[in-house]
Amino acid sequence: MEQLNPHQGIDTSAPAIEVRDLHKSFGDNEVLTGINFHVNSGEVVCVIGPSGSGKSTLLRCVNRLEEPTSGQILVEGIDITDPDTELDKVRSRIGMVFQQFNLFPHMSALRNLTIAQQRVKGRGRKEAEKIARENLAKVGLADKEAAFPAHLSGGQQQRVAIARALSMNPDMMLFDEPTSALDPELVGDVLDVMRRLADEGMTMMVVTHEMGFAREVGDKLVFMDGGVIVEEGDPTEVLTNPQHRRTQSFLSKVL
Ligand code: ADP
Ligand code: MG
Repeated sequence: MEQLNPHQGIDTSAPAIEVRDLHKSFGDNEVLTGINFHVNSGEVVCVIGPSGSGKSTLLRCVNRLEEPTSGQILVEGIDITDPDTELDKVRSRIGMVFQQFNLFPHMSALRNLTIAQQRVKGRGRKEAEKIARENLAKVGLADKEAAFPAHLSGGQQQRVAIARALSMNPDMMLFDEPTSALDPELVGDVLDVMRRLADEGMTMMVVTHEMGFAREVGDKLVFMDGGVIVEEGDPTEVLTNPQHRRTQSFLSKVL
């Protein structure tokens, strides 16, 4: 998308995300107990697993919303657990979308998309608004730029949140159960936007309970339980022919 070289100083041959022996404890509670995996550039990796298995913690470690207890996380080859790494720089390459949208309630959809562009990217208002409008159009909300979050449906709010993340021109997007808070009839529009992003080649890590999405859009499916990756592989293969008892047990409850 960008004409200027957006990868300056970045090792483009490295995986987009590489996690090596990641451990994370909260007090005595070790919730990630040695996670290893990678996401290649342009890949969509879906993460499933029971509540409390550490999915959100893993995602939050990847952009350092949580500090890992030990292990390494490399983003485009840069070790973000290294104290010398400029975290803001790395974070700005990663878009994050949460279950609860987290829009600014007192700002219009357009302003929700421009504020970080202006404050973090240093863009002028005109440029930020142009990029915001492109991204609102992309998620099918060109006519909602003046609307405040409270006047949008949950599905529309989530699409604004996706457009907001895209306005920062991330190299990759992390989604934490983006459709779990939505009424069932609103889920499809959000998944369609995500599917289109994937088709355009966006690198994505998606924690989700939408097995259809994982099967159709995911390049890889990761099943977590009890702070470890129990099983990973081709989504259709994992969903139809799970190898581990814990995967079988989980899938028998959700499919
Ligand atoms: P999931 O997203 O798979 O449901 P989480 O990563 O949210 O799982 O949580 C994994 C475990 O870590 C849970 O036992 C949870 O209570 C604990 N946990 C998550 N965040 C915190 C925190 N900030 N402080 C203490 N414990 C936490
Ligand atoms: Mg979670």
